[in-house]
Amino acid sequence: MNERMYELGAAPSAIRELFAYGLARKAEIGADKVYDFSLGNPSVPAPDAIAQAMAKALELPPMQLHSYSPAQGAPACRQAIADNLNKRFGTAYSSDDLYLTMGAAAALDACITAITNPGDEVIANAPYFPEYRIWIENAGCTCVEVPTRSSDFQLDVPALAAAITPKTRAIIVNSPNNPVGTVYTRENLEELAAMLRAKEEELGQPIYLISDEPYRELAYGGAQVSWVPDIYADTLVCYSWSKSFSLPGERIGYVLVPPAAADARRVYLAVCGAGRVLGYVCAPTLLQKVIADCIDTPVNVEPYVRNRKLLTDMLDDLGYEYIEPAGAFYLWMKALEPDAQAFSDKAKGHELLIVASDSFGVGGWVRVSYCVSEETIVNSRDAFAALKADYE
Ligand code: PLP
Repeated sequence: MNERMYELGAAPSAIRELFAYGLARKAEIGADKVYDFSLGNPSVPAPDAIAQAMAKALELPPMQLHSYSPAQGAPACRQAIADNLNKRFGTAYSSDDLYLTMGAAAALDACITAITNPGDEVIANAPYFPEYRIWIENAGCTCVEVPTRSSDFQLDVPALAAAITPKTRAIIVNSPNNPVGTVYTRENLEELAAMLRAKEEELGQPIYLISDEPYRELAYGGAQVSWVPDIYADTLVCYSWSKSFSLPGERIGYVLVPPAAADARRVYLAVCGAGRVLGYVCAPTLLQKVIADCIDTPVNVEPYVRNRKLLTDMLDDLGYEYIEPAGAFYLWMKALEPDAQAFSDKAKGHELLIVASDSFGVGGWVRVSYCVSEETIVNSRDAFAALKADYE
């Protein structure tokens, strides 16, 4: 047996562990008495257009509906995505630039596998989505953690520059960000791009940005989510409809390899090769049809806007310190003691489930996922107040 695989299977992530604890606790004392802010499962229903497109697709002859698609995805779906991006970002992508995947996870894994060789380095900006490290290490590479700026959790460009070596193949950026809820400003990304262009020149090799964007449309309070390939040519985009259309269980997303990226054709074919090695075969055919039909459906962010306000008003009232969330559906709150895990454990005592920042590569904070019902936020007030009182 492969011991590493065994370890990964046997030890659930801290987030999943807390979520499982929440399910057991809800069964024990009642769902309304547990305030579960642990998981990033969207709380907004999928748009009606999705169910309608699914019903329409189900009327197709079974041989069309259930068959394999080409490995990179059905041309009609890829074309619909390219058209949608071109309309929104003034680009000129074609279906040949897109490789459809089972969600952003498969897109990221395929990209990392495609552009690295064992012994290479990939940089993750801490705090970061914990699976990055697993995919990077599975490709035989080193995950190099670079902390974001402690003041505002934007990218720390001088620190990134210092971390780049001849072995650096890629930097993963994720905006809107899980777990902090930040949106990187255009200025911050431009500073990064200028530094990377200089490093590429100096090292004589491309350094790719892997832009992980499952929360692209979830931005609030006027935050602008930049189109990263416009700012830095050597960007590979990983996207999914898991969050924007609330379809995390349907497993549909893509890799975009913009033609202006270094070695674009070879990178695209390497992504196809990585998909082959990883056994992806093709993205779900039914979902490809649904996405082709629904691609222009607006994303409903209103419930998250309301939740964000309810939560921040409550935390302001209670005197908690946090980073103002500009996107995604997470709030990054300062733990009231240096040991974030101890703080999260104490919160559990008040039936409050918030994830310790240690699992995201930094100490001293907790992630509060506000993709929950409004009642969960409103009713959690006493628990947040009692937790605060524990430290006074
Ligand atoms: N990247 C980030 C930052 C995420 O938060 C998630 C899921 O929560 C993923 C990637 C994986 O997304 P998907 O469910 O589309 O595979």
